Amino acid sequence: MQTKLNSNTPMPSFVIADKCDGCKAEDKTACQYICPNDLMLLDKETNKAFNQAPEMCWECYNCVKICPTQAVEVRGYADFMPMGGVVQPLRSSDTIMWSVKFRNGKIKRFKFPIRTIPEGSSSPDAEMLTGTRDIKSPLLRTEPESLDTSELKSL
Ligand code: SF4
Ligand code: SF4
Repeated sequence: MQTKLNSNTPMPSFVIADKCDGCKAEDKTACQYICPNDLMLLDKETNKAFNQAPEMCWECYNCVKICPTQAVEVRGYADFMPMGGVVQPLRSSDTIMWSVKFRNGKIKRFKFPIRTIPEGSSSPDAEMLTGTRDIKSPLLRTEPESLDTSELKSL
């Protein structure tokens, strides 16, 4: 069944079939792995992924950012898409670069760091102060130090 898009439809992701290599037949593709809504499926016959329920897509861009071949894009809103605007991210191990094409054809690129530690590693405390490890405590993780106090009163 084909989903109809109208002006009330959000900006669902879609796969450009020519660019998709099915993540080289891995058990689970990158876009399947990352979608918080389990929307991406792999057609085993064509070895191409697709968004199985565009109307459920919340435009989080996760699949767009993780796709190693830049095969996923997000459909722009009807009011600006016909004017040619495009937004495309390119992720590396420590940065992400957003290419924004404006409707007058102008392209601007914005590059941002995305990690403070090497890819593949984790730092549970993120080198921040941890006030308590008691999971029943009402304190947030960095409190009370992050509030510039040594003690928080509770009722
Ligand atoms: Fe295709 Fe990209 Fe999904 Fe891999 S992550 S299956 S290349 S759309
Ligand atoms: Fe899933 Fe987000 Fe991609 Fe939509 S944009 S298909 S919700 S990962």
